[in-house]
Amino acid sequence: MEKYVPDIYQKSIYTINYENLKNNGIKCLLFDLDNTLIPSRTTVVNDKTKQLITDLKKDFKVILFSNAGETRVKKIANELEVPYYAWSFKPLSRTFKKVLQDHRYQECEIAIVGDQLYTDIAGGNQVGITTILVNPVSNSDSIFTKLNRYLERKKMHKLYRKGLFTKGKYYE
Ligand SMILES: [Mg+2]
Repeated sequence: MEKYVPDIYQKSIYTINYENLKNNGIKCLLFDLDNTLIPSRTTVVNDKTKQLITDLKKDFKVILFSNAGETRVKKIANELEVPYYAWSFKPLSRTFKKVLQDHRYQECEIAIVGDQLYTDIAGGNQVGITTILVNPVSNSDSIFTKLNRYLERKKMHKLYRKGLFTKGKYYE
């Protein structure tokens, strides 16, 4: 399995087939925060996203899993009433493993939803959980992410040439 190829690729968090995930044994959803749930320059969660998370909590353990700092992640997590891991250092496996331990899930029961190949997808694939890529919800990235985006564009091009991934060609 290519480290940078997501298991599932969808336009946004709203188009993911959560019913299917549930039927396939997924019990826990890790959501990246910046540019997955909210634009990276805001601290506001829109009503549509709030509603989605509320609905998902009925079927899944929902966890915020972000490389951003404690203050930012905690504020959003409190608003959504979900547990969180800040400073998670994706793609390193350390915090992924902590989730598995803390909540006693098996790899096959967890999925990560994120907008970046180099952090969310590479990290998730490395530990063997289900990886779901969505498009970023805004074009504005943090200074750290700008470099990742540059690498990501090159990587996506490479994967495209190998026939492994095509931007905009969604699958589940
Ligand atoms: Mg992100």
